[in-house]
Amino acid sequence: GNTVRLQAIKDVEAYLPPAVSFTESETPGEVFGANVFNKAVMQKRLPKSVYKSVIATIEDGVKLDPVVADAVASAMKDWALEKGATHYAHVFYPLTGLTAEKHDSFLEPVGDGSALAEFAGKTLIQGEPDASSFPNGGLRNTFEARGYTGWDVTSPAYVLENPNGNTLCIPTVFVSMTGDALDHKTPLLRSQQAMGKHAERILKLFGHENPAQIVSFCGPEQEYFLVDRHFFLARPDLLNAGRTLFGSKPPKGQEFDDHYFGAIPERVLGFMMDTERELFKLGIPAKTRHNEVAPGQFEIAPMFERGNIAADHQQLLMTTFKTIAKKHGMECLFHEKPFEGVNGSGKHVNFSIGNSELGSLLVPGDNPHDNAQFLVFCAAVIRAVHKYGGLLRASVASATNDHRLGANEAPPAIISIFLGDQLADVFEQIAKGAATSSKGKGTMMIGADTLPVLPTDPGDRNRTSPFAFTGNRFEFRAPGSMQTVNGPMVTINTIMAEAMDYIATELETAVASGVEFDTAVQDLLTEIITNHGAVVFNGDGYSDNWQIEAASRGLPNLRTTLDALPELITEPSMELFEKYKVFNHREMHSRYEVGLEQYALTIGVEARLTLEMGTTLVLPAAVRHQTEVAQNVSALKAAGVEADIEPLVAVSEPIAALRTALATLKDALTTGGGESALEEATHARDELLPAMAAVRAAADKLEGIVADDLWPLPTYQEMLYIL
Ligand code: ADP
Ligand code: MG
Repeated sequence: GNTVRLQAIKDVEAYLPPAVSFTESETPGEVFGANVFNKAVMQKRLPKSVYKSVIATIEDGVKLDPVVADAVASAMKDWALEKGATHYAHVFYPLTGLTAEKHDSFLEPVGDGSALAEFAGKTLIQGEPDASSFPNGGLRNTFEARGYTGWDVTSPAYVLENPNGNTLCIPTVFVSMTGDALDHKTPLLRSQQAMGKHAERILKLFGHENPAQIVSFCGPEQEYFLVDRHFFLARPDLLNAGRTLFGSKPPKGQEFDDHYFGAIPERVLGFMMDTERELFKLGIPAKTRHNEVAPGQFEIAPMFERGNIAADHQQLLMTTFKTIAKKHGMECLFHEKPFEGVNGSGKHVNFSIGNSELGSLLVPGDNPHDNAQFLVFCAAVIRAVHKYGGLLRASVASATNDHRLGANEAPPAIISIFLGDQLADVFEQIAKGAATSSKGKGTMMIGADTLPVLPTDPGDRNRTSPFAFTGNRFEFRAPGSMQTVNGPMVTINTIMAEAMDYIATELETAVASGVEFDTAVQDLLTEIITNHGAVVFNGDGYSDNWQIEAASRGLPNLRTTLDALPELITEPSMELFEKYKVFNHREMHSRYEVGLEQYALTIGVEARLTLEMGTTLVLPAAVRHQTEVAQNVSALKAAGVEADIEPLVAVSEPIAALRTALATLKDALTTGGGESALEEATHARDELLPAMAAVRAAADKLEGIVADDLWPLPTYQEMLYIL
């Protein structure tokens, strides 16, 4: 045989990875942020008054003065030209979940035939990319395809290196002519503002006279797979859908647990060193690295940063990983479930609120006053997640993440909170305290008692919980590896804004009517834990019992994307986002529509690929094998030897099943879903997915029967274990 697969195996064996391009003398300190137009660079290059004004915008959210923009643009241009930039790009994050860039040249032709490097404040602040090719969920009239990008001053510009010329990249928001958000960044900035405002009200009640701006922080943990590119290119499904649509489980799976925290293969280490250096240059604080549960799976967790910067860095990290993996002859897979039956990939969003002065507001204090404050912010999380668990689920809904959630490797689709034993116990005591209304045994009095010491990194950390307290932050584990962190962050910020608004109002009212502050806090905590404690669950989220118990607690279990997305357009959800000026009703409907469209598109592509690969790769290989076996049977008969026809039956049955399944899939693809995005998406879930599964079942069976030299697709064994 000379299948693409066998050739790929030969090529992999012959491959020599590149040497890591490190300069001996280089220290991480010199490299870090070398390509970033950060505060230090600005301080050096901007007039003092201009610098002050930009910092006021970054740190206190003061509106940027256009005069200042001109000065910044000019300094930024000079800096970028020194760094070898020939172009500049407004970088934005459309609803596809990818990163988009509109590139323009710095050079503008002047009258005498020469060119002048131009970059004015208005080009820095605003761009005008053609928006017609980005999804908008009905937000933009087709005759008005314009969209506008605007600089996010709080996220620093940077120079991206490329052998063909460097580019100055400016992180921007992307909005329609009417100001509606067409991207993932706009709502993040809006939600951050809402969250900060109400957090500051609570801090004032706790005696912080004039707290500096409160922001949300995000530390994303990114899981990914690496496969050799020769294999990747020999798999049309990986190439076009990012996941394998065929392939039976490897004989050696992850059951040995020998990959997790095991030694990192040398070639992968080279890749990691290269990526880390690139990330450092871009000011991305990459930190830990280790093997993940599945073979070929790894993780990177940059240090946490302010939410919108972490979100931008996360996108940049993914692009960087893709590029550098190629350089090392590998493909980086961010899909949530590239290999069926093998652990999938997530992107844990570690979330906290605070500022540099106060640190994280989700850290327990060491005196009764600070504890009370911590418990109030914790209570806000409990109320938020209980009231809006459905929205959190919707924020991570996608066709690709559906393969992972609830599959005993990732949290279930039921959104609950893990507090750890001590903290859960504290809230229980608070609830009891109210019942007796005096300090009895096992109750906790706010303002008098201190908290038990909570472990900062509890060893018994419950990995089955979708939303876990981990000592100084909450960790949202449901987001998928391919998703932006923006969606989850927008939702968390907004539901926290609502909860903190409620809390601040309750406390302000109580205090104004003469209730003692500690009593007001005690009453409030009791009320919240009584009404919202149902969301707290410290048990095993993977167990079947939890499904039953969660139902009895009234917690929603939104299994698929199509169950979750309607949460976006319920009356309470739309009211919520409108109230905190994160999304208006139009924008909510647009997100819902885009979610459905993306879902149907993803599955549509996979279905067509399944049909094509089944028809042109798997079936022909199986038929060749069948023919060989049949020829063997007739040759034996002709020679007068009794022939066993069992092998012929064994291959013929799944071939027949494959043919039938392919015909059904073809039918399902030709009938189509219908007019609306909802009909298309429903058709994809209810018709296409089962039809694809039937094709795969027959094909995977054939993989175990067809002669190895005829099998066309690199196997799981090969892709996962050869690196
Ligand atoms: P795990 O044990 O869950 O694998 P890691 O140490 O790999 O945890 O990752 C933890 C992530 O949480 C890192 O990105 C880290 O920067 C982030 N993190 C730590 N403290 C905070 C905080 N206060 N707010 C937000 N993120 C944080
Ligand atoms: Mg984690």
